[in-house]
Amino acid sequence: MTNTQSINQTIGQGADVISAAHLVKIYGEGDTQVRALDRVNAGFKKGTFTAIMGPSGSGKSTLMHCLAGLDRATSGQILLGGSHLEGMDDNALTTLRRDHVGFIFQSFNLLPTHTAKENILLPLELAGRKVDKVFMASLVKSLGLTGRLGHRPSQLSGGEQQRVAVVRALVGRPAVVFADEPTGALDTRNSHHLLSYLRSASRTEGQTIIMVTHDTKAASYVDRALILSDGQIREDIPSPTEDSVITAMRFAGGE
Ligand code: ADP
Ligand code: MG
Repeated sequence: MTNTQSINQTIGQGADVISAAHLVKIYGEGDTQVRALDRVNAGFKKGTFTAIMGPSGSGKSTLMHCLAGLDRATSGQILLGGSHLEGMDDNALTTLRRDHVGFIFQSFNLLPTHTAKENILLPLELAGRKVDKVFMASLVKSLGLTGRLGHRPSQLSGGEQQRVAVVRALVGRPAVVFADEPTGALDTRNSHHLLSYLRSASRTEGQTIIMVTHDTKAASYVDRALILSDGQIREDIPSPTEDSVITAMRFAGGE
């Protein structure tokens, strides 16, 4: 390997897909003002699976919404796939989200009038992008959804609905997938299946995933846990375990 190659590989491995610098988010004014994010710095490398954890009201949802371009920070910078989010107008933010971000929500957020397949394809259609059929078929198969694509959400179990949402989030190979309490409405078995799958997608597809969760059991599936309290990152734990996260949450004043 030449020096140039090794430098390029180091840069490639070292680059953040998404990063936040000095991120501040203030809600309200005067006496009722809440500083939901207080100078947050964080970078996320390609192919990593990160959990954002912390007590209720610590700023997890706010951080996720700002990173994903769903909400605007009061000050600070966010760099997503080489683009600065601050200073973008609403249309540019919408386009950036559509083309580079995938979402998985606690409540699945599938359209009830659409089949599983239509739900999966909708974001790509809105973006005017072609679907990679081979990739979609492999996602459908490995998530156990073969034969379910013609069903509407009401004809699917909760676990199946969330797996449809996972295919929808991953199929466009977005720079980042954000998951907001993705196991919140799932039983233990389906939670395990979902978290194992997200872990394998980060490994085999190089998919970068940032997940907000209350579930300390989720810690053992992720590469890294960020523990928030009062809008600040208190701990950045590599290779977390359920125990290490429970201890960190206790120090953070957690649940
Ligand atoms: P978490 O997701 O960790 O529970 P949030 O990010 O939802 O925390 O909230 C962080 C803080 O910001 C809390 O004090 C919350 O009450 C406040 N907050 C969140 N959203 C709003 C809003 N739209 N208006 C005013 N305050 C808000
Ligand atoms: Mg929240």
